[in-house]
Amino acid sequence: MADAPLLPWPGGHRAVLSVSIDVDGVYGEANYRDPDDVYWTSQALYDPAGTDRLLGLLADAGVQATFCWVGRAAEEQPEQVQRAVAEGHELALHSWDHRYYVGLGEIGQRLDMERSFETLERVGGVVPTGHKTPGWRYDAATHAIAQEMGLSWVMDEPRGDLPTLLRPDPALPPVVNLPPSRWFDDYTYHVDQVLTPQAAYEAWREDLDVLRAEGKAMFLTLHPFVSGRPGPSRTLARLLDYAIDLGDVWIARADHIARWWLERARERGEIE
Ligand SMILES: [Zn+2]
Repeated sequence: MADAPLLPWPGGHRAVLSVSIDVDGVYGEANYRDPDDVYWTSQALYDPAGTDRLLGLLADAGVQATFCWVGRAAEEQPEQVQRAVAEGHELALHSWDHRYYVGLGEIGQRLDMERSFETLERVGGVVPTGHKTPGWRYDAATHAIAQEMGLSWVMDEPRGDLPTLLRPDPALPPVVNLPPSRWFDDYTYHVDQVLTPQAAYEAWREDLDVLRAEGKAMFLTLHPFVSGRPGPSRTLARLLDYAIDLGDVWIARADHIARWWLERARERGEIE
């Protein structure tokens, strides 16, 4: 399939940059590591402090982000959830306690997503419309459930640099897949290896330059206990400064991008 022509993003923008922040609380690291590995699992205790720093950074930049908030962590940090919503950020599902969906089964996943949905709606006072699977360990059932629940987007499948429409059930409205990447994930630059903020920023700036030349989109995945740390927070700050200075990058929440993509698909007659 040939590359899509340069897209007319809304407002004449040439590219899209989306900041999604996965608030895993202590449940993400506990999932990736041996439960007895307190050295690693305790690092995630920094999450609330990192969330505060990221909220301040986003406010300074005037940028709205998407917070994929683990349900249990949202219960533990209700004031931060409510602050994020009050400051214009989106709230999206990221499971109840960050267990991988692979192996959880169709019923297990459905219960987990419904419990997460109910928790975020109650704590945040908004209706979530998107979902990101913990560790991107989804399976064939995951997006069918998201579609049945009426969600408008998922952020799991790295299918290129543009959104795609998923339609597990052809009779239901599609779900927009917003493509993430391990190369747009702060773990790759500040956990798996430790780069300077300048080096990590330069890597992402190169990504953004290429995507902007091609009219495409960049979906960042950040974590408060990583990108919310003092030095690594500068990676995001510098990238946002750069993108804002370019003047033609649409920096938007995931739900706004998904909505626009669906409207465009309708206009083009790709969906009803
Ligand atoms: Zn996560």
